[in-house]
Amino acid sequence: MARSSVCELCGSDEEVTLYEIPAGDGSEEQSVYLCKTCKTQIEEDTLDETHFNCLNDAMWSEVGAVKVLSYILLNKLGRQDLVDMMYLEDDEQALANKAVAADANKLVFRDANGVELKAGDSVVILKDLDVKGAGFTAKRGTTVTKISLPSGMDDHVEGRVNGVKIFLKTEFLKKA
Ligand SMILES: [Zn+2]
Repeated sequence: MARSSVCELCGSDEEVTLYEIPAGDGSEEQSVYLCKTCKTQIEEDTLDETHFNCLNDAMWSEVGAVKVLSYILLNKLGRQDLVDMMYLEDDEQALANKAVAADANKLVFRDANGVELKAGDSVVILKDLDVKGAGFTAKRGTTVTKISLPSGMDDHVEGRVNGVKIFLKTEFLKKA
């Protein structure tokens, strides 16, 4: 079976690219061909339930990685009824469990008001912050664009101020 022509979840042929399933090893065997719509929604964690009705079919795919990804997404969508109907091989189940567990442990970054921050967001600094080692103060009111989220800590984000990449404590930030 040729795999790369259409999205293996919804069947669309719009900008189909290979997507590595969470907790996968990066091989084609543990990746799924996805259209732009599916991929964007999965990467940004904004699953549209109507669009992902396509999982009703994808969950019966003969491709292991497609089954695993369907399982992960159905879990996210809270479709336990469908998850229960699925049959995964032992290695597929192990991979799916790993991805679901990793997602449950995912760090959530929140600003001073408890609003979730995502990579690429812009934030405003709420108080003057001395930047240790850089010798300047990040001024209150400064907007920092395109923040990134460092792994391993959920109380700092990374962003560029005065051209210098620094860590900023989330409690002193507000999403712009
Ligand atoms: Zn798709």
